[in-house]
Formats: sequence, structure tokens, C-alpha cells
Amino acid sequence: MNTDSHLYGSKDIIKIEDRDGEDNPAIDLDVLGLVARTATVGIVRGGTIVEKKTPTLPEHVVNILTCRNPRCVTTTERGIDQMFHLTHSGRQEYRCDYCDEEAKL
Ligand SMILES: [Zn+2]
Repeated sequence: MNTDSHLYGSKDIIKIEDRDGEDNPAIDLDVLGLVARTATVGIVRGGTIVEKKTPTLPEHVVNILTCRNPRCVTTTERGIDQMFHLTHSGRQEYRCDYCDEEAKL
């Protein structure tokens, strides 16, 4: 996975195995929206694409981004969840729930 914007022209394929027989594939589209923001997800079953989805940016992410503020409670204390919220979807800007530090995607 590569989130550099100059690579938006490239096309990557992320293959995620579906669990047998389940209606919902074993995939978290919110997380995928964050790491592969220009991706279209094709759900393949039995060798054919049965569904296409475009991931959207999640409003809130837990333990995906890491706060870079050295004085943040998530840095100074152990065992605290790294929680971020979306503050600007157009700029894809996330800020730490605890100290409001902007996350670098
Ligand atoms: Zn923080």
C-alpha cells in the first residue's frame, strides 16, 4: 500500500479472501478507504465480480494512525487507543482525539 499522492495514477490490486458462504466479505471498507483512497473494490466470488464498492473516508479511526505529538497522552501513556477523527474530508485531514494534533496520512 502506498498513499503518496503522486502514485494516484497507478493501479494496485488488493486481494482479500472472502469467507465462504458469508454475505459480507471479510473486509473493512473504512480501513481500506483510508489506505487506498482512490481504490474501487471489486468483490469477486466464484471468479466473477459480483459487486463494486468505492471506499469512503471513515469519520473516526482507532489504532490505524499514530499521533506524532511527543506530549500527547497516547505517546506518554501505554495502552491507550490511538483515536483520530476526520476534520476535513476534502483535505483528508485527521486530528487526534486527545491533543488535536494533525495526523500525516
Ligand atoms: Zn495526540
